[in-house]
Amino acid sequence: MAASRSDSMSGGRESTVRIGLVLPDVMGTYGDGGNALVLRQRLRMRGHDAEIVEITLSDPVPESLDIYTLGGAEDSAQRLATRHLQRYPGLQRAAAKGAPVLAICAAIQVLGHWYETSTGERVDGVGLIDVTTSPQAKRAIGEVTTTPLLPGLTAALTGFENHRGGTKLGGDATGLAHVTRGVGNGVGDGLEGVVQGSTIGTYMHGPALARNPELADLLLARVLGVDELPPLHLPEVDQLRRERLRA
Ligand code: GLN
Repeated sequence: MAASRSDSMSGGRESTVRIGLVLPDVMGTYGDGGNALVLRQRLRMRGHDAEIVEITLSDPVPESLDIYTLGGAEDSAQRLATRHLQRYPGLQRAAAKGAPVLAICAAIQVLGHWYETSTGERVDGVGLIDVTTSPQAKRAIGEVTTTPLLPGLTAALTGFENHRGGTKLGGDATGLAHVTRGVGNGVGDGLEGVVQGSTIGTYMHGPALARNPELADLLLARVLGVDELPPLHLPEVDQLRRERLRA
């Protein structure tokens, strides 16, 4: 069984870290499920036991996992996911207890107050984060590069974006990063992504954590209740970053 949040906050956890991959059957465009693999691998390379728990549309969402990831989706799949998360609010309960949540693209929209589909229909979201999303005149598609605003991140963030929705942040949410290339949230404030409590959202596919190991380790440090993790030297990750930042 996973350690309780208070165990993990003490930094002395010995139990298996359980990574929730939420609704990969409907949310997971561009290999976003890879974020869970990156988290698991970076934990295992440091000697921690870790496993991925897949939660599909046939499962209620448990509130006991240590960290949750959700991927992007097409409009219709996004709606199924929204309904499921409203019906089984385990993710919202876990986030309220401080469990980190990583939401990619459509998942930002789903976790907000509401979003409008590309046909202009408004759908109530989960209400976990203070954002709303409306379709923009033009689809944002291509490489996105940003400078992080979240304390603890220093390296440029890189991803691939493909979304029609533009996301406006309310007063309880802040931007993850400032856009230097690409569109990001797409509402003219120069921001990319969202941070609110233990939830981090971003439009970056990639998968985001394969391209941005600093973000992966920030999430993992929170899970383990430590300030920072011993570095991993992975030349292939450095090479991927160099290539994508040049692309
Ligand atoms: N359907 C959403 C949009 O176009 C999200 C797309 C995605 O997750 N790639 O804004």
